[in-house]
Amino acid sequence: MDASDFREPLDSPRNLPDHAAMNVAISEAALKTLKTSADLVDGGFVAADQVTDLDAVFARYATAIPPALARLIAHPGDPIARQFVPDLRELDVSPEERTDPVGDHVHSPIKGIVHRYPDRVLLMPTLTCAVYCRFCFRRETVGSDGGLSADEIAAALGYIAATPAIWEVILTGGDPLVLSARRIGEIIAALDRIPHVKVIRLHSRVPVAAPERIDAGLIAALKQTRKAVYVGIHCNHAAELTIEAVAACARLANAGIPLLAQSVLLKGVNDTAEDLENLFRALVAARVKPYYLHQLDYAPGTGHFRVPLEQGLALVQALRGRVSGLALPTYILDIPGGAGKVPADSGHLSPEGDGTYIVREPVTRDSANGRHTYPPSAPAE
Ligand code: SF4
Repeated sequence: MDASDFREPLDSPRNLPDHAAMNVAISEAALKTLKTSADLVDGGFVAADQVTDLDAVFARYATAIPPALARLIAHPGDPIARQFVPDLRELDVSPEERTDPVGDHVHSPIKGIVHRYPDRVLLMPTLTCAVYCRFCFRRETVGSDGGLSADEIAAALGYIAATPAIWEVILTGGDPLVLSARRIGEIIAALDRIPHVKVIRLHSRVPVAAPERIDAGLIAALKQTRKAVYVGIHCNHAAELTIEAVAACARLANAGIPLLAQSVLLKGVNDTAEDLENLFRALVAARVKPYYLHQLDYAPGTGHFRVPLEQGLALVQALRGRVSGLALPTYILDIPGGAGKVPADSGHLSPEGDGTYIVREPVTRDSANGRHTYPPSAPAE
């Protein structure tokens, strides 16, 4: 039996799984954020005899499954469980996988800043998330204590203030919306005082993972500026858009904050045209514009989630005409190593005929004349 046997009929993505009918031992433990192997055993998400084997996974990678997502898990192999429940396959690392798959470190001029493109920076005030995704491209860093101190945030803001080319600041992490409303408001207000910053974007899983956090205080914090504020929501399956998550999106949209979605193409989660159609339709109906569909990055131990690029291209092609342009994100590929993003399309990819592709950078910033082989070879680390 595989994950597809347990998928919900998604004509109504707000349907929650019927746990009783699925014979799943969801206990009261699912009312709190699940962080330890004991929590997951108590919640019925991991068998007790798996715990010893899984200890190495827990030791290496952060785990947290908040109630809003734990309640959606109908079976250990379903599309929600696959994204968040630790799996032994995370210890299988292939040669091309790398600890810093998109090259954050090589583009970090100061702690908490990634400056990959001239006109925008990532600002990472925290490495904590409301939920830890098993396929995360920053899985080697999230969940650690590497968030910024007050002095480090001041230094990062100083870098932005001293760099007039920076037009857009993207708060990410970790998840910036796990910070208190006071801290978020302070950062937004500080960015508001930098004249050349015109756009502030926050990337977050919180609207689906902990929708109750999107409250009046948090929204007031996001409004500490006259500049454009966007929120990019990470959502991979229509079932994540529960009534509560849709209501959280509505609170943001009603406050005048445009909403975008970023999704990752994941095997066993959303790797059919029907899965993607349901996801994108549910997002648009929730007033969230699908922005990027990411090809999975080569983070360690994520091979069991990887959808071959050829299959991804076919899926996106299948969606053309099936859903409106409003519901079609750009299928996007981060060139391994830090050369940046390119749309996964015939303008940027050339098949080599053996399952590999030549990826061309839109603007050459890197070595090799802006041409890269994909999948990548093993890094020289
Ligand atoms: S919420 Fe984002 S940063 Fe956090 S674990 Fe998931 S993908 Fe990674």
